[in-house]
Amino acid sequence: MLESTRDKAMAGEKVRIGIMGGTFDPIHYGHLAAAHAAMEQLDLDEIMFLPAGTPAFKRDREITDGETRFEMCCAAVDNVPEFSVNVMEVMRPGVTYTADTLRQLSRSKHPSLEYVFIMGADSASTLLRWNDQEALRTMASYAVVTRSTQQIPTETLKELRAAGFKVETIETQTPLISSTEIRRRVMVGEDISRLVPPEVERIIVARSLYLGLDDPENPLSDAFFEARKADLKERVNEHRYQHSLGVADTAARLAEIYGANVRKARLAGILHDWDKGYDDKGIRQRADELGMTVDPQVYYALPRVLHAHTAPVAIKRLFPQVPEDVLTAMDRHTVAAENMLDLDMVVYIADALEPGRSFERADAMREKIGVVSLEELFFDVYEYWIMHMMERKMQLHPNTVGIWNYYVRRIRQREKEN
Ligand code: ATP
Ligand code: MG
Repeated sequence: MLESTRDKAMAGEKVRIGIMGGTFDPIHYGHLAAAHAAMEQLDLDEIMFLPAGTPAFKRDREITDGETRFEMCCAAVDNVPEFSVNVMEVMRPGVTYTADTLRQLSRSKHPSLEYVFIMGADSASTLLRWNDQEALRTMASYAVVTRSTQQIPTETLKELRAAGFKVETIETQTPLISSTEIRRRVMVGEDISRLVPPEVERIIVARSLYLGLDDPENPLSDAFFEARKADLKERVNEHRYQHSLGVADTAARLAEIYGANVRKARLAGILHDWDKGYDDKGIRQRADELGMTVDPQVYYALPRVLHAHTAPVAIKRLFPQVPEDVLTAMDRHTVAAENMLDLDMVVYIADALEPGRSFERADAMREKIGVVSLEELFFDVYEYWIMHMMERKMQLHPNTVGIWNYYVRRIRQREKEN
């Protein structure tokens, strides 16, 4: 409760707290618009968002865990002092009944405090079927809001009032958004930036929510990862296999720290050396069989980098559903490239710094994880690698000078800006 609200209640003044209940899977601009309209029209002192635990009416689909839905709510209301999020329902085991929540809230309630339960028309039409009508009727009043141009159903209002519920309406035009639509869009890769606050979108992306990860065909699912891990064990020797496990782990950790997609990083990590089991002759043949045209300089003089280029082509044939950026990160893990994406850098760094690697500067570089920017860390590793190859008089890939100059220019530019 806000301090001002508490003071008001203590002084015996009437205080109204709005409760915005819902699954919030995820919270979106429709919910926020409804809450803002309620604040203004119902003369509320504050609004408490109350993400449901396991809701009685939504047991037909897999609901995101309560902690994550709670966090998304917190992120969404963070900049509005009158809005808060209540953790009560997500902490409670078993099916959530609003009546239990109201009872719990009322236990320490100041007599001059009134709870107004804000609900969309769709929820309001089910209110008469909720558990423990007596408690629902006496411990709160209700306010009904509709999505966009939908009408508040007068029938529902009549029925509720006839049953003894105190019901107000909120006249507003909230955006026609639903969590269902957001989940659908995420699943098919459509934009949601106009439907949820950026902080919420960030959580959705970072945790790979709504991507259908319980489907083993989904390349970002645990099942797909485990299956490819088992395949890899048959394709490379034990040492290389352990290295790949280390890269997958390290890439996931780097992605978490630097805000890249953790599951994509993990997948690119486990797959990056998919073709490392071939010898020089074998990998050239592999490139031929895959119908690839390779720069003759690379084909003849640098067969050791070919595995990075053949693997994504081979994987795409076997599993066309693997995302393009995962394939790109695999492709760039050896030679790198100009303009590397975050995921590319994550995998490149992980390849060098996974726990199985031991070289003199490895620990010093590991200590920089999360301390310096991703690009800085990447260039550190890149520099080390190039120097190392030069010291050992190894041939460099023809793109190396271009890549080197590209990042040096970027460093200089940044120095100038600061
Ligand atoms: P889902 O599509 O999963 O049912 P939802 O968008 O309806 O999600 P809920 O968490 O079910 O969101 O909704 C919480 C409350 O907010 C409900 O009372 C619902 O009617 C209301 N609500 C949801 N979206 C809007 C909106 N765009 N405008 C007004 N009220 C809304
Ligand atoms: Mg709903």
